[in-house]
Order: sequence, then C-alpha cells, then structure tokens
Amino acid sequence: MGFDVDLFVIGGGSGGVRAARVAAGEHGARVALAEEYRMGGTCVIRGCVPKKLMVYASSFPALAEEARAYGWSADVGAFDWPAFRGRLSAELDRLEGLYRKGQTGAGVTVHDQRATVAGPHEVRLADGTTVRAKHILVATGARPFVPEFPGNEHVLTSNDMFGLDTLPRRLLIVGGGFIACEFACIMEGLGVEVTVWNRSPLLRVFDRECAELITARMAARGIRIATGRTVDRIVKGDGLAVTSGEVTETFDAVLYATGRVPNTEGLGLTEAGVTLRGNGAVAVDDWSQTNVPSIFAVGDVTDRINLTPVAIREGHAFADTVFGANPRRVDHDLVASAVFTRPEFGTCGLSEEAARAREEVEVYAAGFRPMRASFAGGDEKVLMKLVVSRATRRVLGCHIVAPDAGEMIQLAAIAMKMGATKEQFDATCAVHPTMAEELVTMRKPVR
Ligand code: NDP
Repeated sequence: MGFDVDLFVIGGGSGGVRAARVAAGEHGARVALAEEYRMGGTCVIRGCVPKKLMVYASSFPALAEEARAYGWSADVGAFDWPAFRGRLSAELDRLEGLYRKGQTGAGVTVHDQRATVAGPHEVRLADGTTVRAKHILVATGARPFVPEFPGNEHVLTSNDMFGLDTLPRRLLIVGGGFIACEFACIMEGLGVEVTVWNRSPLLRVFDRECAELITARMAARGIRIATGRTVDRIVKGDGLAVTSGEVTETFDAVLYATGRVPNTEGLGLTEAGVTLRGNGAVAVDDWSQTNVPSIFAVGDVTDRINLTPVAIREGHAFADTVFGANPRRVDHDLVASAVFTRPEFGTCGLSEEAARAREEVEVYAAGFRPMRASFAGGDEKVLMKLVVSRATRRVLGCHIVAPDAGEMIQLAAIAMKMGATKEQFDATCAVHPTMAEELVTMRKPVR
C-alpha cells in the first residue's frame, strides 16, 4: 500500500524540525511537518530565546551600578518595555522565518495547522485532509501546568510573559523551579517588585548548597521569598488578592511556574494504540519508538530530560536511525544545564545529595567574592563545587554558581563526559585570573 510521505512530523519545535530537516535534507526522505502555532516551538518562540534576551535586558541596571564603582558616570535611565517588546517580537519573527526556511530548503512540506494521529500510518490535518505516512513522529512538546483552585483563570504563565502590555508593579511568582527563579531575577532586574511563593525550597532538585546560595542571593537583591506556601484562591478586585492559609496579599499580576505537562490531549494517540505514561507523556524506548512500531516521539512530549539540546539530539538520532541506516541512541547521561538566575547556575552530573545516596564521595568547594564584584564593593558570591567518587576518583558532579556559569559548565561537561578524575582536573594548569581556575586548584576536600 502506498504512502504519501515517508515521515510525518507533528510539531515544529526543536526536536521536530531537526528530525524533519535531517530525514529530508540528509537522507532523502519525503517529509511533511505540521505546526499549529509558530515554527520554532517553545524554545524559539516562548522559551529559551526570548527568556535569554530578557535576561540580557534585565542585567543593565546592575551593570550601570558596577560601572559607577569603576569610575564611570553611568546611569541606565528608565526601561522602555514596549520598545524592548517590539524588538523582541521582530527578532522572533526573524528566527521563525529562518526555521521555516530550514524546513522548506531541505524539501519538507510545511502545513500551518493542527495535525492529529488517525491511525498507525495516518495523520489528519485540521482542514480534513488525511495523509498516509510510513512513519509518524510526535514532537508536540509540553505546556505550562496550572493547578486547579478558585481564581486560577487570573494567572499568567510563561507563555504570556513576552507579550505583556505593561510590566506589573507588584508580581507574585508561584513555583520554585527553572522558570520561577529565572523570571524572578529577570523581573527584579527590570524594576518589578517580585515575590516568590513555593510549596518547597527553591530549586529543590538541584545541589542543595548551590540552591541555597542562589536563593540567598535572590533574597539579598530584594526578591521576597516564602516557602511552604501554596495558593488557596485568587480574587480579582483592585489588583489580585492572593490567599495562602492565613496570608492574603495583593499583586498586580501572578505568574504560575509550577511545571509543564506533555501535549498529548486530543492527539489521537491512545485511539491509535500508543501507550501514554501517567502524566500523559508518550512512552518510548531508547530509540524514541512507541509500542506502535510506526510511531515515534521525541522531546518534551516524552518527558525524559526536558531541554532543547536533548530534544534536538533525540530528533537527529531518530532520523539517522530510521532513514539514514545509522542506528544510534541518545545518551541521556551527564547532560549539563544552566539556570539563568542572577547569579547564574551551571550544573552537570549528580548533586552532592544524590551522589552520597549512591556511593562514598569527597566534596571539593570554593566559595568566594569574585574579583570584579569585590572591587566594586559588591557582596556577590561565587561557588565552585566538585563531587568526586572515592572509589573511582571520577568527578560525578560539577556545580557552578557564578556569572556566566552556563558558559563554564559547558566546558567542564566535556571533561566529565570523558570520565575525568579529580586528579586529571588537578593536572590541568589554571587560567589566571579567572573564576573557573578554582575548578582545578581545589586541593583538599571540604567534606
Ligand atoms: P520545574 O519542574 O522546574 O519546577 C516546578 C516548580 O513548581 C517546583 O518548584 C515545584 O515544587 C512546583 N510545583 C509543582 N507542582 C505544583 C503544584 N501542584 N502546586 C504548587 N507548586 C507546584 O518546572 P518549570 O515550570 O520551572 O520548568 C519546566 C521545565 O522546563 C524544567 O524542568 C526544565 O526541564 C525546562 N526549563 C529549562 C530551562 C533551562 O534550561 N534554563 C528554563 C526553563 C524551563 P516542588 O519542588 O515541591 O516539586
């Protein structure tokens, strides 16, 4: 029986576009892709990219303050949100155009509409067309999760943050993970009064010492943080009155950043026989293949490691395996990541707590005031930390809280991926004067 295409990709985000481009452009497959919103997906349109540009925008008041300490008569002036938002929107349009071109240039047919799975080899488009596909790749990502409670219709999610009409004067952020902490720092930098409420300590899943330092630095910059708090209700009146137990406070806006859920609702997967996990994620094996052999899934919709570079790798490996006669699985071990708080956090491998639960470890840590801030009279703190296996001497975890920690951890992750031991870190000569040199000069374990 003939197929219309060799591959139909549902979702034009990081994983989907990579798989489609490689399958069509490098392996000569006939590929179609459907995207119901904008090409580029969460990372490009409402995630990593606009977020990082907002991180840059929010950094200037602190830079101006530092510049004054270095002898400049610098004044950053007022922040023009509509002007920035306009530039941001133009930049996203440009990037979206590039992503589209990447697809069409590789020979992929792009459908700007919703697509659902109609069977193991069938995709139905919103306009009623049915496409017969030899393989289907589900790459529909995830969306923000907001718990049920009275008044939850008044909250914003990260999707809304890049298009706000005006910046709120008082913002409550609920949550304590990547998104909550990043937006808390961004908004504080832009001059918003920020309060964070979370049910547990912030950045709970990360190395505790690092999470505590970041939390303390956020608080020192004036972000009000309360943990052990969940929201009972929100009442809209003159502002939003938010109640948690005995406490009621009024804010101009409330951002919910309490995790994300896979986009599988109404996609036709269960009807096609595809197994979903409890949280709605598509269950896949190491090859990103579902229990229905012709249907695969990559990226956040599979809820493995929900990061763009991981989705890209999963998409690429899928295309090489199925269309390139080059079977390969993605190695999900030692994936480094960065949290763009201020100070920034770069992390790879096991936290001290997770490593201790597994084996005997030595912990090397250096906490200090970096030269640049120290000269300016700031009380900023930096932390470099290595968690080392006593048995193998391998560096199991590297955690950096410092300006540009994201850049540093990328490089440390190469050594870790190569299996570097503490002694090999030590055998590497320092680059002076830098913050990262501490990673190769810590002689004695602190614990
Ligand atoms: P996270 O899973 O990181 O954090 C969710 C937070 O919300 C946690 O603090 C959690 O508390 C809390 N929470 C969860 N459910 C509830 C609930 N029902 N009521 C109250 N609080 C709740 O999610 P994010 O939304 O911040 O980010 C989603 C994912 O997106 C990240 O995990 C990451 O994979 C990705 N991401 C990556 C970024 C990067 O690489 N820089 C940036 C942004 C997102 P508790 O700790 O108690 O569970």
